[in-house]
Amino acid sequence: MRIIDKIYINGQFVTPQGTEVQTLINPSTKQIIGQVTLANAKDVQDAVSAAKQAFKTFKHTTVEQRANMLQRLHDAVLARKDELSEAFVEEYGSAAAAAPNFTDLAVNSFIWAKETLESFAFTKQIGTANVRLEPLGVIGIITPWNANYTYIASKLATAIAAGCTTVIKPSELSAIQTQLITECLHAADIPAGVINIVTGTGQEVGAELTRNPDIAKISFTGSTDVGKIIQRGAADTMKRVTLELGGKSPNIVLDDADLNQAIPLALMLCYGNNGQSCMAASRLIVPEHRLEEVKAIVSAFVPNIKVGDPQDLSTQIGPMVSQKQYDRVQRYIQSGIDEGAELVAGGLGHPEGLEYGYFVKPTVFANVKPAMTIAQEEIFGPVLSILTYQFEEEAIEIANDTVYGLAAYISTPDLEKANRIAAQIEAGVVMINGVMVDMNAPFGGFKQSGIGREFGVYGLEEHLEPKSISGYLIQD
Ligand code: NAD
Repeated sequence: MRIIDKIYINGQFVTPQGTEVQTLINPSTKQIIGQVTLANAKDVQDAVSAAKQAFKTFKHTTVEQRANMLQRLHDAVLARKDELSEAFVEEYGSAAAAAPNFTDLAVNSFIWAKETLESFAFTKQIGTANVRLEPLGVIGIITPWNANYTYIASKLATAIAAGCTTVIKPSELSAIQTQLITECLHAADIPAGVINIVTGTGQEVGAELTRNPDIAKISFTGSTDVGKIIQRGAADTMKRVTLELGGKSPNIVLDDADLNQAIPLALMLCYGNNGQSCMAASRLIVPEHRLEEVKAIVSAFVPNIKVGDPQDLSTQIGPMVSQKQYDRVQRYIQSGIDEGAELVAGGLGHPEGLEYGYFVKPTVFANVKPAMTIAQEEIFGPVLSILTYQFEEEAIEIANDTVYGLAAYISTPDLEKANRIAAQIEAGVVMINGVMVDMNAPFGGFKQSGIGREFGVYGLEEHLEPKSISGYLIQD
């Protein structure tokens, strides 16, 4: 039983003024594994004051100083990477075989930000103007539960590279992971006030960050609904926002694809991270005349996917994170059935023998029509909707026919054709044959999947304010 009763302000672990206590539940067993005392709005104000004070000197640090800090942060997180992965398995239900990949992303994000920082020009000459790119100020960072410490690390790394200080509000469902990564960050000996971490609810702590006049920008990853609340709230103080939101990503399988490769890949692109992934390829768009072949491969493959104890290294899909998330997935499966989609695999309820945790059956629907709820809304669970097309143009039309535009996938051996189709897809990231995107390339969504981009130069620039100076030539 873990008791987490401290938050992190101005370089110190302090007792929050908030008194609300929330229990932490292992989603694989529904057992209580800890409790966290939640911060309140007053705690946020203290954290913002510390970050604002720290910014006065931090904004003047050199590239070399910040690069050294990023290296120390990398080393400190790397030193406890196994513990982080274990916490991700226990508290979130990540499959143990997959968890180290998320931890590696957290660890490496500091090095990627360091590399970007070291090759970035903070001053430019444009015509007769000298343009300085100056750090924005205090960044409010808000993360979801589906890879909490990975988002903390990557968002923090970019803020530090830019010379910004931070107040971080992690998901309140991830307090054990947050406690661990906070200890790592503390060990990196970063100047007091640069990193502040206040675990609390969205309504209390997230809302205070959004309205606080001393926060210059909100860097948010989470649902589109909450993204809209944040954008509305941020308008009053004209905060900058980066919003990484939901998705309903299409996976177009072209006529010439080898289905024996493309369909198992499609299933795992949907089911990765227990299906609780913003990039989940949750709409599979296949040629109509090959639907029966697709269904046959699905029917043979899905029963062999291992669902269950996430500690078991052979497990591929762990539990949903919470009862709320379990219920949400069940509601969507029911809506697929009610609206007349054909259930090819999975369905309602727990997999047999797994009633003791928030496990769901990996599910596949065929004959899904574009207007159906399961073709339009983000489920955030292992539920795949198969749609069909007759012509390539129709496949592209179906792919673009949602309010989302985060990721898209194309399967074909014809890379020229894939590239041509990629140019017509409304999504921030398009992956051909499952090749993952470079971590220094811009990441973010078209349409209601978000605003702005993260990672690499694009992410760094979103933490900087350009200033044009004329009449004087800057020499630095
Ligand atoms: P969520 O939107 O419910 O919560 C995200 C964070 O926002 C949490 O820390 C929460 O406490 C906070 N929050 C809630 N209400 C708030 C408010 N009124 N003001 C400020 N903050 C508030 O999302 P979730 O359920 O934690 O995560 C799942 C969602 O995140 C999915 O929609 C998924 O697609 C999205 N997501 C997007 C990406 C991406 O990169 N685009 C990555 C991961 C997850």
